[in-house]
Amino acid sequence: MAKKRVAIIGAGSSGLCGIKCCLDEGLEPVCFESSNDIGGLWRFKEIPEEGRASIYNSVIINTSKEMMCFSNFPIPDDYPNYMHNSKILDYFRLYAKHFDLLKYIHFKTAVRSVTRRPDFSSTGQWDVVTETDGKQESSVFDAILVCTGHHTNAHMPLDSFPGIRKFKGGYFHSRDYKSPDEFTGKRVIVIGIGNSGGDLAVEISRKAKQVFLSTRRGAWIINRVGDDGYPADVVLTSRYNNIRKQFFTDSMLNQWIENRLNARFNHSHYGLKPKHRFLSQHPTVNDDLPNCIISGKVLVKPNVSEFTETAAIFEDGSKEEDIDFVVFATGYSFSFPFLGNCVRVIENNITLYKYVFPPHLEKPTLAFIGLVQPLGAIMPISELQARWATHVFKGDATLPPISDMTADITMKQVLMEKRYVKSQRHTIQVDYIDYMDELASSLGVKPNVWSLLLTDPKLAWEVIFGPCTPYQYRLQGPGKWNGARKAILTQHDRVLKPLRTRPTDDSKNALVPLWLKMVGLLVLFAALFAHF
Ligand code: FAD
Ligand code: NAP
Repeated sequence: MAKKRVAIIGAGSSGLCGIKCCLDEGLEPVCFESSNDIGGLWRFKEIPEEGRASIYNSVIINTSKEMMCFSNFPIPDDYPNYMHNSKILDYFRLYAKHFDLLKYIHFKTAVRSVTRRPDFSSTGQWDVVTETDGKQESSVFDAILVCTGHHTNAHMPLDSFPGIRKFKGGYFHSRDYKSPDEFTGKRVIVIGIGNSGGDLAVEISRKAKQVFLSTRRGAWIINRVGDDGYPADVVLTSRYNNIRKQFFTDSMLNQWIENRLNARFNHSHYGLKPKHRFLSQHPTVNDDLPNCIISGKVLVKPNVSEFTETAAIFEDGSKEEDIDFVVFATGYSFSFPFLGNCVRVIENNITLYKYVFPPHLEKPTLAFIGLVQPLGAIMPISELQARWATHVFKGDATLPPISDMTADITMKQVLMEKRYVKSQRHTIQVDYIDYMDELASSLGVKPNVWSLLLTDPKLAWEVIFGPCTPYQYRLQGPGKWNGARKAILTQHDRVLKPLRTRPTDDSKNALVPLWLKMVGLLVLFAALFAHF
Protein backbone atom coordinates (compact mmCIF):
# COMPACT_ATOMS: atom_id res chain seq x y z
CA MET A 1 0.00 0.00 0.00
CA ALA A 2 1.29 3.51 -0.86
CA LYS A 3 2.51 5.55 2.06
CA LYS A 4 0.21 8.35 3.25
CA ARG A 5 1.58 11.76 2.22
CA VAL A 6 1.70 14.44 4.86
CA ALA A 7 2.21 18.11 4.04
CA ILE A 8 4.18 19.88 6.76
CA ILE A 9 3.92 23.65 6.61
CA GLY A 10 7.01 25.33 8.05
CA ALA A 11 10.54 24.09 8.86
CA GLY A 12 11.04 25.70 12.24
CA SER A 13 11.50 23.51 15.30
CA SER A 14 7.90 22.24 15.03
CA GLY A 15 8.20 21.38 11.35
CA LEU A 16 11.53 19.61 11.80
CA CYS A 17 10.23 17.27 14.47
CA GLY A 18 7.05 16.88 12.39
CA ILE A 19 9.15 15.46 9.54
CA LYS A 20 10.94 13.11 11.92
CA CYS A 21 7.66 11.85 13.40
CA CYS A 22 6.22 11.17 9.95
CA LEU A 23 9.27 9.09 9.09
CA ASP A 24 8.99 7.19 12.37
CA GLU A 25 5.36 6.34 11.59
CA GLY A 26 6.10 5.25 8.02
CA LEU A 27 4.36 8.29 6.51
CA GLU A 28 5.77 10.31 3.63
CA PRO A 29 6.63 13.86 4.76
CA VAL A 30 6.68 16.76 2.31
CA CYS A 31 7.69 19.93 4.11
CA PHE A 32 7.13 23.38 2.61
CA GLU A 33 9.20 26.25 3.96
CA SER A 34 8.70 29.73 2.58
CA SER A 35 12.26 30.86 3.45
CA ASN A 36 15.50 29.39 2.21
CA ASP A 37 16.55 27.70 5.45
CA ILE A 38 15.43 25.83 8.56
CA GLY A 39 15.10 27.11 12.14
CA GLY A 40 12.12 29.47 11.83
CA LEU A 41 12.09 32.03 14.63
CA TRP A 42 15.51 31.00 15.89
CA ARG A 43 17.33 31.95 12.65
CA PHE A 44 18.27 35.58 13.25
CA LYS A 45 17.85 37.94 10.29
CA GLU A 46 19.03 41.55 10.21
CA ILE A 47 15.86 42.64 8.42
CA PRO A 48 12.45 41.42 9.62
CA GLU A 49 10.64 39.45 6.93
CA GLU A 50 6.92 39.55 6.22
CA GLY A 51 5.06 36.41 7.33
CA ARG A 52 7.96 35.16 9.45
CA ALA A 53 8.94 35.58 13.09
CA SER A 54 11.76 38.01 13.83
CA ILE A 55 14.05 38.10 16.85
CA TYR A 56 16.67 40.53 18.17
CA ASN A 57 20.35 39.87 17.89
CA SER A 58 20.93 39.16 21.57
CA VAL A 59 18.01 36.82 22.36
CA ILE A 60 18.96 34.12 24.80
CA ILE A 61 16.33 31.47 25.35
CA ASN A 62 14.45 31.27 28.65
CA THR A 63 14.12 27.52 28.72
CA SER A 64 17.22 25.50 29.50
CA LYS A 65 18.81 22.96 27.21
CA GLU A 66 17.86 19.79 29.06
CA MET A 67 14.22 20.93 29.18
CA MET A 68 13.96 22.13 25.57
CA CYS A 69 15.64 19.39 23.57
CA PHE A 70 13.93 16.86 21.38
CA SER A 71 13.32 13.68 23.35
CA ASN A 72 15.71 11.41 21.46
CA PHE A 73 18.44 13.92 20.72
CA PRO A 74 20.09 15.53 23.77
CA ILE A 75 21.77 18.87 23.25
CA PRO A 76 25.58 18.51 23.25
CA ASP A 77 26.94 18.51 26.78
CA ASP A 78 29.23 21.50 26.21
CA TYR A 79 26.41 23.79 25.01
CA PRO A 80 25.37 26.40 27.60
CA ASN A 81 22.25 25.76 29.61
CA TYR A 82 20.54 28.88 28.31
CA MET A 83 21.57 29.23 24.71
CA HIS A 84 22.00 32.23 22.48
CA ASN A 85 19.76 32.02 19.40
CA SER A 86 22.73 31.09 17.20
CA LYS A 87 23.42 28.02 19.36
CA ILE A 88 19.78 27.00 19.20
CA LEU A 89 19.95 27.13 15.43
CA ASP A 90 23.13 25.05 15.56
CA TYR A 91 21.25 22.45 17.56
CA PHE A 92 18.40 22.33 15.03
CA ARG A 93 20.97 21.93 12.27
CA LEU A 94 22.56 19.00 14.15
CA TYR A 95 19.11 17.43 14.58
CA ALA A 96 18.22 17.86 10.90
CA LYS A 97 21.56 16.43 9.83
CA HIS A 98 21.52 13.51 12.24
CA PHE A 99 18.10 12.34 11.11
CA ASP A 100 18.68 13.38 7.48
CA LEU A 101 15.61 15.64 7.37
CA LEU A 102 16.68 18.32 4.87
CA LYS A 103 15.89 16.23 1.83
CA TYR A 104 12.18 16.35 2.71
CA ILE A 105 12.02 20.16 2.71
CA HIS A 106 11.00 22.28 -0.27
CA PHE A 107 12.61 25.64 0.48
CA LYS A 108 11.39 28.98 -0.88
CA THR A 109 7.99 27.36 -1.22
CA ALA A 110 5.06 29.02 0.51
CA VAL A 111 1.76 27.29 1.13
CA ARG A 112 -0.98 29.52 -0.23
CA SER A 113 -4.09 27.45 0.42
CA VAL A 114 -5.15 24.23 2.05
CA THR A 115 -8.69 23.10 1.25
CA ARG A 116 -10.71 19.98 1.82
CA ARG A 117 -11.17 17.89 -1.31
CA PRO A 118 -14.74 17.20 -2.45
CA ASP A 119 -14.50 13.62 -1.16
CA PHE A 120 -12.97 14.73 2.18
CA SER A 121 -15.63 13.02 4.30
CA SER A 122 -14.52 9.64 2.99
CA THR A 123 -10.81 10.22 2.22
CA GLY A 124 -9.78 13.00 4.61
CA GLN A 125 -7.63 14.41 1.79
CA TRP A 126 -6.58 17.97 1.12
CA ASP A 127 -5.66 20.11 -1.88
CA VAL A 128 -2.53 22.09 -1.11
CA VAL A 129 -1.55 25.01 -3.32
CA THR A 130 2.09 26.05 -3.01
CA GLU A 131 4.04 28.85 -4.64
CA THR A 132 7.70 28.73 -5.65
CA ASP A 133 9.33 31.61 -7.54
CA GLY A 134 5.90 33.00 -8.39
CA LYS A 135 4.69 29.70 -9.84
CA GLN A 136 1.74 27.96 -8.22
CA GLU A 137 1.23 24.23 -8.00
CA SER A 138 -1.50 22.09 -6.51
CA SER A 139 -1.03 18.66 -4.94
CA VAL A 140 -3.13 16.20 -2.99
CA PHE A 141 -2.18 15.21 0.58
CA ASP A 142 -3.59 12.69 3.02
CA ALA A 143 -2.89 14.87 6.04
CA ILE A 144 -1.53 18.25 7.10
CA LEU A 145 0.73 19.38 9.95
CA VAL A 146 0.51 23.15 10.44
CA CYS A 147 3.86 24.23 11.91
CA THR A 148 3.85 27.95 11.15
CA GLY A 149 4.45 29.28 14.68
CA HIS A 150 2.47 31.87 16.61
CA HIS A 151 4.96 34.67 17.14
CA THR A 152 4.85 36.19 13.67
CA ASN A 153 2.09 38.80 13.47
CA ALA A 154 2.78 41.85 15.64
CA HIS A 155 -0.05 42.80 17.98
CA MET A 156 0.12 46.59 17.78
CA PRO A 157 -2.79 48.04 19.79
CA LEU A 158 -2.41 51.63 18.52
CA ASP A 159 -6.09 52.41 19.09
CA SER A 160 -5.56 51.89 22.83
CA PHE A 161 -3.02 54.73 22.84
CA PRO A 162 -4.67 58.08 21.98
CA GLY A 163 -2.30 60.53 20.34
CA ILE A 164 0.22 57.92 19.18
CA ARG A 165 -0.38 58.75 15.51
CA LYS A 166 0.59 62.38 16.07
CA PHE A 167 3.62 61.45 18.19
CA LYS A 168 6.66 62.82 16.35
CA GLY A 169 9.23 60.34 17.66
CA GLY A 170 9.67 56.84 16.32
CA TYR A 171 7.44 53.95 17.33
CA PHE A 172 7.53 50.29 16.34
CA HIS A 173 6.82 46.76 17.54
CA SER A 174 9.38 44.62 19.38
CA ARG A 175 9.57 42.21 16.40
CA ASP A 176 11.26 45.03 14.46
CA TYR A 177 13.88 45.61 17.18
CA LYS A 178 17.33 44.25 16.38
CA SER A 179 19.96 46.00 18.51
CA PRO A 180 20.23 48.95 20.92
CA ASP A 181 22.69 51.15 19.00
CA GLU A 182 20.20 53.62 17.55
CA PHE A 183 18.94 54.40 21.08
CA THR A 184 22.22 55.83 22.30
CA GLY A 185 21.48 58.93 24.39
CA LYS A 186 17.71 58.70 23.73
CA ARG A 187 14.66 58.64 25.99
CA VAL A 188 12.70 55.49 25.27
CA ILE A 189 9.39 54.05 26.45
CA VAL A 190 8.90 50.28 26.28
CA ILE A 191 5.25 49.27 26.54
CA GLY A 192 4.48 45.77 27.85
CA ILE A 193 6.20 43.65 30.45
CA GLY A 194 6.24 40.24 28.83
CA ASN A 195 9.61 38.69 28.11
CA SER A 196 10.17 40.95 25.11
CA GLY A 197 9.41 44.10 27.12
CA GLY A 198 11.73 43.02 29.94
CA ASP A 199 14.60 42.03 27.63
CA LEU A 200 14.33 45.17 25.51
CA ALA A 201 14.09 47.55 28.47
CA VAL A 202 17.27 46.04 29.92
CA GLU A 203 19.22 46.02 26.67
CA ILE A 204 18.17 49.48 25.49
CA SER A 205 18.93 50.93 28.93
CA ARG A 206 22.63 50.10 28.42
CA LYS A 207 22.76 52.75 25.67
CA ALA A 208 19.80 55.05 26.23
CA LYS A 209 19.70 58.18 28.35
CA GLN A 210 16.57 56.83 30.07
CA VAL A 211 14.22 53.91 29.61
CA PHE A 212 10.65 53.90 30.94
CA LEU A 213 9.05 50.48 31.21
CA SER A 214 5.30 50.96 31.04
CA THR A 215 2.97 48.20 32.23
CA ARG A 216 -0.78 48.19 32.60
CA ARG A 217 -0.83 45.60 35.36
CA GLY A 218 2.73 44.91 36.57
CA ALA A 219 4.35 41.50 36.78
CA TRP A 220 6.14 39.05 39.02
CA ILE A 221 9.70 38.67 37.79
CA ILE A 222 11.42 35.30 37.97
CA ASN A 223 15.05 34.30 37.41
CA ARG A 224 16.68 32.05 34.89
CA VAL A 225 19.24 31.10 37.51
CA GLY A 226 17.49 28.97 40.11
CA ASP A 227 18.49 27.50 43.47
CA ASP A 228 22.14 26.48 43.72
CA GLY A 229 22.67 28.11 40.34
CA TYR A 230 20.85 25.39 38.45
CA PRO A 231 18.59 26.48 35.60
CA ALA A 232 15.30 27.44 37.24
CA ASP A 233 13.24 25.13 35.05
CA VAL A 234 15.49 22.19 35.93
CA VAL A 235 14.89 22.83 39.62
CA LEU A 236 11.17 23.47 39.41
CA THR A 237 9.87 21.15 36.69
CA SER A 238 9.85 17.78 38.42
CA ARG A 239 7.18 15.16 39.01
CA TYR A 240 7.89 15.44 42.71
CA ASN A 241 7.04 19.14 42.67
CA ASN A 242 4.01 18.50 40.49
CA ILE A 243 2.63 15.98 42.95
CA ARG A 244 3.60 18.07 45.96
CA LYS A 245 1.64 21.05 44.70
CA GLN A 246 -1.57 19.04 44.87
CA PHE A 247 -1.36 19.29 48.65
CA PHE A 248 -1.64 23.07 48.54
CA THR A 249 -4.28 25.49 47.41
CA ASP A 250 -3.45 27.93 44.62
CA SER A 251 -3.51 30.69 47.18
CA MET A 252 -0.88 28.91 49.33
CA LEU A 253 1.31 28.25 46.29
CA ASN A 254 1.01 31.85 45.16
CA GLN A 255 1.92 33.09 48.61
CA TRP A 256 4.95 30.85 48.81
CA ILE A 257 6.23 31.87 45.36
CA GLU A 258 5.50 35.57 45.86
CA ASN A 259 7.30 35.54 49.23
CA ARG A 260 10.35 34.05 47.54
CA LEU A 261 10.25 36.56 44.70
CA ASN A 262 9.79 39.45 47.12
CA ALA A 263 12.69 38.19 49.20
CA ARG A 264 14.91 38.82 46.19
CA PHE A 265 13.48 42.27 45.69
CA ASN A 266 10.25 43.71 46.96
CA HIS A 267 7.97 44.02 43.93
CA SER A 268 6.07 46.92 45.53
CA HIS A 269 9.24 48.90 46.15
CA TYR A 270 10.23 48.41 42.52
CA GLY A 271 6.83 49.50 41.18
CA LEU A 272 6.20 46.08 39.70
CA LYS A 273 3.70 44.46 42.07
CA PRO A 274 0.61 43.43 40.11
CA LYS A 275 -2.89 43.07 41.52
CA HIS A 276 -3.06 39.50 40.31
CA ARG A 277 -1.33 36.51 41.85
CA PHE A 278 1.80 34.85 40.47
CA LEU A 279 0.05 31.92 38.78
CA SER A 280 -2.41 34.19 36.93
CA GLN A 281 0.05 35.53 34.37
CA HIS A 282 2.55 34.05 31.92
CA PRO A 283 5.89 34.46 33.74
CA THR A 284 8.34 37.20 32.90
CA VAL A 285 11.87 35.86 33.24
CA ASN A 286 14.56 38.45 33.77
CA ASP A 287 17.66 38.26 35.91
CA ASP A 288 18.84 41.77 34.99
CA LEU A 289 15.74 43.94 35.31
CA PRO A 290 15.99 44.58 39.09
CA ASN A 291 19.59 45.69 38.55
CA CYS A 292 18.54 48.18 35.89
CA ILE A 293 15.77 49.49 38.12
CA ILE A 294 17.95 49.89 41.20
CA SER A 295 20.53 51.73 39.12
CA GLY A 296 17.88 54.04 37.69
CA LYS A 297 18.47 53.01 34.10
CA VAL A 298 14.91 51.69 33.89
CA LEU A 299 11.99 53.48 35.55
CA VAL A 300 8.78 51.47 35.86
CA LYS A 301 5.64 53.39 34.90
CA PRO A 302 1.92 52.64 34.64
CA ASN A 303 0.11 52.41 31.30
CA VAL A 304 0.31 55.38 28.94
CA SER A 305 -3.05 57.17 28.81
CA GLU A 306 -2.09 59.58 26.04
CA PHE A 307 0.74 60.64 23.78
CA THR A 308 1.37 64.22 22.68
CA GLU A 309 3.74 65.11 19.83
CA THR A 310 6.73 64.75 22.13
CA ALA A 311 5.57 63.41 25.48
CA ALA A 312 3.75 60.57 27.19
CA ILE A 313 1.15 61.05 29.91
CA PHE A 314 0.72 58.05 32.17
CA GLU A 315 -2.38 56.81 33.95
CA ASP A 316 -1.16 58.18 37.30
CA GLY A 317 -1.07 61.67 35.72
CA SER A 318 2.72 61.83 35.49
CA LYS A 319 4.22 63.11 32.26
CA GLU A 320 7.54 62.42 30.56
CA GLU A 321 8.71 64.97 27.99
CA ASP A 322 11.15 64.62 25.11
CA ILE A 323 10.46 61.00 24.31
CA ASP A 324 12.38 59.84 21.26
CA PHE A 325 11.08 56.30 20.78
CA VAL A 326 8.21 54.07 21.85
CA VAL A 327 8.63 50.31 21.57
CA PHE A 328 5.43 48.28 21.59
CA ALA A 329 6.41 44.98 23.21
CA THR A 330 2.73 44.11 23.17
CA GLY A 331 2.87 40.54 21.95
CA TYR A 332 1.53 38.67 18.95
CA SER A 333 -1.62 37.57 17.17
CA PHE A 334 -1.85 34.39 15.17
CA SER A 335 -3.86 33.41 12.12
CA PHE A 336 -3.81 30.81 9.36
CA PRO A 337 -4.90 32.61 6.19
CA PHE A 338 -4.05 29.61 3.97
CA LEU A 339 -6.74 27.55 5.74
CA GLY A 340 -9.58 29.88 4.69
CA ASN A 341 -12.68 29.26 6.81
CA CYS A 342 -11.60 25.79 7.92
CA VAL A 343 -10.62 27.16 11.34
CA ARG A 344 -11.56 30.44 12.96
CA VAL A 345 -9.25 32.48 15.16
CA ILE A 346 -10.74 35.37 17.13
CA GLU A 347 -8.34 37.38 19.29
CA ASN A 348 -6.04 34.39 19.59
CA ASN A 349 -8.90 32.04 20.54
CA ILE A 350 -9.02 28.86 18.50
CA THR A 351 -11.02 25.69 19.03
CA LEU A 352 -8.71 22.69 19.02
CA TYR A 353 -8.85 19.37 20.82
CA LYS A 354 -5.83 19.27 23.12
CA TYR A 355 -4.57 22.29 21.14
CA VAL A 356 -3.91 20.02 18.16
CA PHE A 357 -7.00 18.77 16.28
CA PRO A 358 -9.98 20.82 15.05
CA PRO A 359 -12.85 18.78 16.51
CA HIS A 360 -15.42 19.36 13.77
CA LEU A 361 -13.69 17.69 10.81
CA GLU A 362 -15.10 14.38 9.57
CA LYS A 363 -11.56 12.98 9.42
CA PRO A 364 -8.70 13.82 11.83
CA THR A 365 -6.20 14.71 9.12
CA LEU A 366 -5.36 18.28 10.11
CA ALA A 367 -3.15 18.98 13.14
CA PHE A 368 -1.58 22.11 14.61
CA ILE A 369 1.87 21.70 16.08
CA GLY A 370 3.44 24.14 18.55
CA LEU A 371 0.30 26.23 18.95
CA VAL A 372 0.60 26.45 22.72
CA GLN A 373 2.08 28.89 25.20
CA PRO A 374 3.67 26.58 27.76
CA LEU A 375 5.08 27.23 31.19
CA GLY A 376 8.13 25.43 29.88
CA ALA A 377 9.67 24.81 26.49
CA ILE A 378 7.69 24.50 23.26
CA MET A 379 10.03 22.18 21.35
CA PRO A 380 9.44 18.91 23.26
CA ILE A 381 5.73 19.72 23.31
CA SER A 382 5.71 20.19 19.54
CA GLU A 383 7.49 16.88 19.22
CA LEU A 384 5.02 14.98 21.39
CA GLN A 385 2.08 16.63 19.63
CA ALA A 386 3.57 15.56 16.30
CA ARG A 387 4.13 12.00 17.56
CA TRP A 388 0.49 11.83 18.59
CA ALA A 389 -0.83 13.49 15.42
CA THR A 390 1.13 11.24 13.08
CA HIS A 391 0.00 8.21 15.08
CA VAL A 392 -3.58 9.34 14.49
CA PHE A 393 -2.91 10.06 10.80
CA LYS A 394 -1.55 6.56 10.39
CA GLY A 395 -4.73 5.14 11.90
CA ASP A 396 -3.07 3.65 14.99
CA ALA A 397 -5.06 5.90 17.34
CA THR A 398 -8.48 7.51 17.11
CA LEU A 399 -10.00 10.66 18.52
CA PRO A 400 -13.00 10.53 20.86
CA PRO A 401 -16.51 11.52 19.69
CA ILE A 402 -16.97 15.20 18.90
CA SER A 403 -19.10 15.75 22.01
CA ASP A 404 -16.26 14.52 24.26
CA MET A 405 -13.72 16.67 22.43
CA THR A 406 -15.92 19.74 22.71
CA ALA A 407 -16.46 19.11 26.41
CA ASP A 408 -12.69 18.85 26.93
CA ILE A 409 -12.09 22.06 24.99
CA THR A 410 -14.73 23.92 26.99
CA MET A 411 -13.37 22.63 30.28
CA LYS A 412 -9.87 23.81 29.40
CA GLN A 413 -11.17 27.24 28.33
CA VAL A 414 -13.08 27.65 31.57
CA LEU A 415 -10.07 26.66 33.69
CA MET A 416 -7.79 29.01 31.74
CA GLU A 417 -10.20 31.93 32.11
CA LYS A 418 -10.52 31.21 35.82
CA ARG A 419 -6.78 31.05 36.39
CA TYR A 420 -5.34 33.76 34.13
CA VAL A 421 -5.99 37.48 33.89
CA LYS A 422 -7.96 38.31 30.77
CA SER A 423 -5.55 39.02 27.94
CA GLN A 424 -5.12 37.74 24.42
CA ARG A 425 -1.74 36.38 25.47
CA HIS A 426 -3.50 33.88 27.74
CA THR A 427 -5.58 31.81 25.31
CA ILE A 428 -3.35 28.79 24.68
CA GLN A 429 -1.60 28.38 28.04
CA VAL A 430 -0.47 24.93 29.15
CA ASP A 431 1.46 23.62 32.16
CA TYR A 432 4.42 21.58 30.96
CA ILE A 433 4.20 18.28 32.86
CA ASP A 434 0.40 18.14 32.99
CA TYR A 435 0.08 18.75 29.27
CA MET A 436 2.95 16.46 28.28
CA ASP A 437 1.48 13.68 30.42
CA GLU A 438 -1.92 14.23 28.86
CA LEU A 439 -0.53 13.91 25.34
CA ALA A 440 1.64 11.00 26.42
CA SER A 441 -1.38 9.17 27.80
CA SER A 442 -3.17 9.56 24.45
CA LEU A 443 -0.12 8.09 22.74
CA GLY A 444 0.70 5.44 25.35
CA VAL A 445 4.14 6.82 26.25
CA LYS A 446 3.57 8.24 29.73
CA PRO A 447 6.29 6.74 31.96
CA ASN A 448 4.91 4.11 34.31
CA VAL A 449 6.37 5.27 37.59
CA TRP A 450 5.08 2.24 39.51
CA SER A 451 6.70 -0.27 37.24
CA LEU A 452 9.93 1.74 37.18
CA LEU A 453 10.04 1.76 40.97
CA LEU A 454 9.93 -2.02 40.94
CA THR A 455 12.19 -2.70 37.96
CA ASP A 456 14.67 0.18 37.89
CA PRO A 457 14.66 2.17 41.16
CA LYS A 458 17.67 4.27 40.17
CA LEU A 459 15.91 5.49 37.05
CA ALA A 460 12.61 5.85 38.93
CA TRP A 461 14.33 8.12 41.44
CA GLU A 462 15.56 10.46 38.71
CA VAL A 463 12.22 10.34 36.90
CA ILE A 464 10.41 11.38 40.07
CA PHE A 465 12.83 13.79 41.71
CA GLY A 466 14.91 14.96 38.79
CA PRO A 467 13.79 17.41 36.14
CA CYS A 468 10.99 16.08 33.95
CA THR A 469 13.12 16.08 30.83
CA PRO A 470 11.68 15.10 27.43
CA TYR A 471 13.55 11.75 27.46
CA GLN A 472 10.99 10.49 29.98
CA TYR A 473 8.53 10.21 27.10
CA ARG A 474 10.82 7.81 25.23
CA LEU A 475 11.08 5.17 27.94
CA GLN A 476 8.15 3.07 26.74
CA GLY A 477 5.42 2.73 24.14
CA PRO A 478 5.47 3.71 20.47
CA GLY A 479 8.70 5.48 19.55
CA LYS A 480 10.58 4.06 22.55
CA TRP A 481 14.24 5.09 22.38
CA ASN A 482 16.92 2.84 23.86
CA GLY A 483 19.06 5.84 24.77
CA ALA A 484 16.38 7.39 26.99
CA ARG A 485 17.50 5.76 30.24
CA LYS A 486 21.11 6.84 29.75
CA ALA A 487 20.03 10.35 28.73
CA ILE A 488 18.05 10.70 31.97
CA LEU A 489 20.83 9.35 34.17
CA THR A 490 23.39 11.68 32.60
CA GLN A 491 21.28 14.85 32.37
CA HIS A 492 22.82 16.26 35.52
CA ASP A 493 26.29 15.97 33.97
CA ARG A 494 25.16 17.83 30.86
CA VAL A 495 23.83 20.67 33.02
CA LEU A 496 27.14 21.04 34.86
CA LYS A 497 29.56 20.44 32.00
CA PRO A 498 29.39 23.94 30.49
CA LEU A 499 29.53 25.55 33.95
CA ARG A 500 32.49 23.81 35.53
CA THR A 501 35.07 25.34 33.26
CA ARG A 502 37.59 25.75 36.07
CA PRO A 503 38.53 22.87 38.34
CA THR A 504 37.35 23.38 41.92
CA ASP A 505 37.33 21.34 45.08
CA ASP A 506 34.46 18.96 44.57
CA SER A 507 31.33 19.82 46.42
CA LYS A 508 27.96 18.20 46.89
CA ASN A 509 25.92 18.77 43.77
CA ALA A 510 22.67 17.15 44.74
CA LEU A 511 19.70 19.19 43.53
CA VAL A 512 17.66 18.06 46.55
CA PRO A 513 19.32 17.18 49.88
CA LEU A 514 19.08 13.53 50.89
CA TRP A 515 16.91 14.12 53.96
CA LEU A 516 14.46 16.08 51.83
CA LYS A 517 14.37 13.30 49.31
CA MET A 518 13.48 10.83 52.06
CA VAL A 519 10.66 13.06 53.31
CA GLY A 520 9.63 13.55 49.70
CA LEU A 521 9.56 9.84 49.09
CA LEU A 522 7.13 9.35 51.96
CA VAL A 523 4.94 12.16 50.69
CA LEU A 524 5.17 10.74 47.22
CA PHE A 525 4.06 7.29 48.20
CA ALA A 526 1.05 8.80 49.92
CA ALA A 527 0.30 10.86 46.82
CA LEU A 528 0.83 8.00 44.40
CA PHE A 529 -1.82 5.98 46.19
CA ALA A 530 -4.22 8.89 45.76
CA HIS A 531 -3.13 9.72 42.21
CA PHE A 532 -2.80 6.51 40.20
P1 FAD B 1 8.59 29.16 13.92
O1 FAD B 1 9.92 29.00 14.51
O2 FAD B 1 7.98 30.51 13.86
O3 FAD B 1 8.66 28.54 12.45
C1 FAD B 1 7.60 28.63 11.52
C2 FAD B 1 8.14 28.40 10.12
O4 FAD B 1 7.04 28.32 9.21
C3 FAD B 1 9.03 29.53 9.62
O5 FAD B 1 10.24 29.00 9.15
C4 FAD B 1 8.22 30.18 8.49
O6 FAD B 1 9.03 30.69 7.46
C5 FAD B 1 7.37 29.02 8.02
N1 FAD B 1 6.10 29.41 7.39
C6 FAD B 1 5.16 30.22 7.92
N2 FAD B 1 4.11 30.31 7.07
C7 FAD B 1 4.41 29.51 6.00
C8 FAD B 1 3.70 29.18 4.81
N3 FAD B 1 2.48 29.66 4.54
N4 FAD B 1 4.30 28.34 3.93
C9 FAD B 1 5.53 27.83 4.19
N5 FAD B 1 6.23 28.11 5.30
C10 FAD B 1 5.67 28.93 6.19
N6 FAD B 1 9.86 29.17 23.20
C11 FAD B 1 10.46 28.39 24.12
O7 FAD B 1 10.13 27.22 24.24
N7 FAD B 1 11.42 28.88 24.94
C12 FAD B 1 11.83 30.18 24.86
O8 FAD B 1 12.63 30.63 25.65
C13 FAD B 1 11.27 31.00 23.84
N8 FAD B 1 11.73 32.24 23.62
C14 FAD B 1 11.16 33.02 22.64
C15 FAD B 1 11.69 34.28 22.39
C16 FAD B 1 11.08 35.14 21.49
C17 FAD B 1 11.63 36.51 21.25
C18 FAD B 1 9.92 34.70 20.80
C19 FAD B 1 9.20 35.63 19.86
C20 FAD B 1 9.44 33.41 20.98
C21 FAD B 1 10.07 32.55 21.88
N9 FAD B 1 9.65 31.24 22.08
C22 FAD B 1 10.24 30.45 23.03
C23 FAD B 1 8.53 30.69 21.31
C24 FAD B 1 8.92 30.24 19.87
O9 FAD B 1 7.80 30.53 19.12
C25 FAD B 1 9.28 28.76 19.83
O10 FAD B 1 10.47 28.58 20.57
C26 FAD B 1 9.56 28.15 18.47
O11 FAD B 1 10.42 28.92 17.69
C27 FAD B 1 8.32 27.90 17.67
O12 FAD B 1 8.72 27.09 16.55
P2 FAD B 1 7.75 26.81 15.35
O13 FAD B 1 8.46 25.89 14.44
O14 FAD B 1 6.43 26.38 15.88
O15 FAD B 1 7.52 28.24 14.66
P1 NAP C 1 3.55 38.81 25.49
O1 NAP C 1 4.06 37.76 26.35
O2 NAP C 1 2.24 38.62 24.84
O3 NAP C 1 3.50 40.17 26.35
C1 NAP C 1 2.86 41.30 25.84
C2 NAP C 1 2.88 42.40 26.87
O4 NAP C 1 2.24 43.54 26.31
C3 NAP C 1 2.12 42.08 28.14
O5 NAP C 1 2.74 42.71 29.23
C4 NAP C 1 0.76 42.69 27.88
O6 NAP C 1 0.07 43.05 29.05
C5 NAP C 1 1.17 43.95 27.14
N1 NAP C 1 0.09 44.47 26.32
C6 NAP C 1 -0.58 43.85 25.31
N2 NAP C 1 -1.53 44.67 24.82
C7 NAP C 1 -1.47 45.81 25.54
C8 NAP C 1 -2.21 47.03 25.51
N3 NAP C 1 -3.22 47.22 24.66
N4 NAP C 1 -1.88 47.99 26.39
C9 NAP C 1 -0.89 47.82 27.28
N5 NAP C 1 -0.14 46.69 27.37
C10 NAP C 1 -0.44 45.69 26.50
O7 NAP C 1 4.58 39.13 24.28
P2 NAP C 1 6.17 39.04 24.27
O8 NAP C 1 6.75 39.60 25.49
O9 NAP C 1 6.57 39.55 22.95
O10 NAP C 1 6.46 37.47 24.32
C11 NAP C 1 6.01 36.62 23.24
C12 NAP C 1 6.61 35.23 23.43
O11 NAP C 1 8.01 35.27 23.25
C13 NAP C 1 6.38 34.63 24.80
O12 NAP C 1 6.30 33.26 24.65
C14 NAP C 1 7.66 34.95 25.53
O13 NAP C 1 7.95 34.07 26.60
C15 NAP C 1 8.65 34.77 24.41
N6 NAP C 1 9.87 35.56 24.63
C16 NAP C 1 10.95 34.93 25.16
C17 NAP C 1 12.15 35.61 25.32
C18 NAP C 1 13.35 34.89 25.79
O14 NAP C 1 13.34 33.68 25.83
N7 NAP C 1 14.40 35.57 26.15
C19 NAP C 1 12.22 36.95 24.99
C20 NAP C 1 11.10 37.57 24.46
C21 NAP C 1 9.92 36.86 24.28
P3 NAP C 1 -1.08 42.11 29.70
O15 NAP C 1 -0.37 41.03 30.43
O16 NAP C 1 -1.77 43.06 30.56
O17 NAP C 1 -1.90 41.61 28.55
